Amino acid sequence: MIEVSKKCIGCTKCVPVCPFAAINMIDKMAVMNEACTLCGVCVQVCPVQAITITREEASARDLSGFKGVWVYVELTETGDKTHAKKIKQVTFELLSSARRLADELGEDVCAVLLTDKNHNYEKELGAYGADKVYMVEHDELFEYNTDIFTTVIVSLVTRHKPSIMLYGATIQGRDLAPRVASSLYVGLTADCTALAIKDGLLLQSRPAFGGNIMADILAPKSRPQMSTVRPNVMKMNEPVLGRSALVVRESAKLDKSLRRVKVLERKISHDGGGMKIENAKIIVSGGRGMKSKEKFKQLDELSKLLGGVVGASRAAVDMGFKEKTHQVGQSGTTVSPKLYLSFGISGAVQHIVGMKASDVIVAVNKDASAPIFNVAKYGIVGDVHEILPKLIEALKKN
Ligand SMILES: Cc1cc2nc3c(=O)[nH]c(=O)nc-3n(C[C@H](O)[C@H](O)[C@H](O)COP(=O)(O)OP(=O)(O)OC[C@H]3O[C@@H](n4cnc5c(N)ncnc54)[C@H](O)[C@@H]3O)c2cc1C
Repeated sequence: MIEVSKKCIGCTKCVPVCPFAAINMIDKMAVMNEACTLCGVCVQVCPVQAITITREEASARDLSGFKGVWVYVELTETGDKTHAKKIKQVTFELLSSARRLADELGEDVCAVLLTDKNHNYEKELGAYGADKVYMVEHDELFEYNTDIFTTVIVSLVTRHKPSIMLYGATIQGRDLAPRVASSLYVGLTADCTALAIKDGLLLQSRPAFGGNIMADILAPKSRPQMSTVRPNVMKMNEPVLGRSALVVRESAKLDKSLRRVKVLERKISHDGGGMKIENAKIIVSGGRGMKSKEKFKQLDELSKLLGGVVGASRAAVDMGFKEKTHQVGQSGTTVSPKLYLSFGISGAVQHIVGMKASDVIVAVNKDASAPIFNVAKYGIVGDVHEILPKLIEALKKN
């Protein structure tokens, strides 16, 4: 419920910021009409705190009307001359997972697309499992902005009541999802590594206590149930070509004044201009067993020969063998290459969660009981300092 108290001074500041034209000035007092979605933007701009929103107790709410599994669509620059943005791969991974969850619940998968220009995105979104695309097309959505995007998402959720909403645990998703969660007064489980349905609820699994246990989290009293999932964690379905999603156009009245943060400059550093580890098809990774920075450099050589990217365990990063941007694991990057080669890595659970989705894992370790062998398809028990030079030599010969 939204209320305007007698403190209202009739300054009208709340009127232009309301994205839904839900505020009228009557007798110098702000009065909300039925278009109000309780998004809370007016509360933020009121200089005298005259507007208050009271949320229902979650337990008192009827949750049966919440239906559908939603996925936030993240767009990224293509960098080409068209300036058209493309859909980030994590969106397709989430759609694939959402499809499975929705089929089990007997509900729809809906993609939520906020953009300044639609480039037939519904075709790809449909191919990866979306039944519907809720699309808001507006000039103010030309780039991601926390305030603007939160306002739009909150209003869509309030209007259409999804039961589940998934975001990529990317820079953008990690900024947006908590803001939406706090605006809606619902929970959020970050960095889920598995999602399933249990008794009609979303079972959200994620590492806890430094990765030593897996916690299963349920949100029985709030909707939507919201999770973020890192890129490369969920397996992507094969796209069904020709399966397009129904586009539902949604309107939003967005004003520049909603934008409290202005991006003045953007600097992207790409570690020597090379490929990012999360996109690599081949990763040659090393751990403490590589012993020194000098010896670790052999992995660069092997990776070049294979056309891959070098990865590292946290111990290797802590010892200064490689930069943090190359760290694989729970507090580094999650990867799922076609081939993951591991040299002198023990296979601690925090490392495994970041690479176990790789298609083929090959591990070299001198300790036959190292846990890395539990996830490796091929294991070589031996000294990396003997095996690695021989491997490099053999590849050079061929
Ligand atoms: C909250 C938290 C987050 C974490 N996040 C991450 C993360 O993101 N990524 C990560 O990797 N770790 C992470 N860790 C650390 C993790 O627990 C381990 O400490 C780390 O992965 C160990 O790295 P390692 O395997 O290189 O080193 P070690 O565990 O020391 O293993 C070295 C291995 O090398 C082998 N070896 C030694 N010499 C040779 C040789 N000559 N030839 C062959 N094998 C040899 C040894 O048998 C051993 O198995 C995290 C920990 C915590 C608490």
